[in-house]
Amino acid sequence: MTVSRVLLLGPPASGKGTQARHLTALVNVPCLGTGKLLRSEIEKGTEVGKQAEQFISNGEYVPDQLIMDMVKSWLNEDPQKSDGWLLDGFPRTLPQAEALQEISQPDLVIALDVPKENLERRILMRRECSSCHSTVAVENSEQVECPVCNAETLTSRSDDAIESFKVRYANYKELTTPLFDYYTAKGILRNIDGTQSPDKVSAEIDQIINQF
Ligand SMILES: [Zn+2]
Repeated sequence: MTVSRVLLLGPPASGKGTQARHLTALVNVPCLGTGKLLRSEIEKGTEVGKQAEQFISNGEYVPDQLIMDMVKSWLNEDPQKSDGWLLDGFPRTLPQAEALQEISQPDLVIALDVPKENLERRILMRRECSSCHSTVAVENSEQVECPVCNAETLTSRSDDAIESFKVRYANYKELTTPLFDYYTAKGILRNIDGTQSPDKVSAEIDQIINQF
């Protein structure tokens, strides 16, 4: 069958953003990153944004109803989206998955599997460059030279980042992992080892889409 409605699941820092970009090009459908949309609503200071901000700043999940309203209006704003979409970061809970099922059913659910230790290491090795504002991954924790602009201005914000990761990961375990059983029962879940390089993960996604 042709895959046109795809969900991407995975814990924080599992590489979902990178693979969402890959999938959008591959399947050629509009992509909704709910995290990105929420951040833009917050920046614009909309009602949804104001409500969501309180939850996000505490590292909590935004309530199902708020997210559902946002996703529904995204799906409805363009008739082309009835032909296909990619959702990244949604659904995050079983009630959200059930609500989505009533509007538009996914053909395929791709889950990136990365153990907690690997995710923590990724976050600890993440640096920001105060010169060119890139976010990069360093090979060793002593590195200060930015691989993008070569300035020795890499800084780490790992204490904050690791604390916020722990809260988000615990939420993921509790609220999102029930979706694995839900979509396995529908026969549309495919797991990928997300500890591989981004290119290898993309190649596996290609294979899954071609064989589906
Ligand atoms: Zn730089």
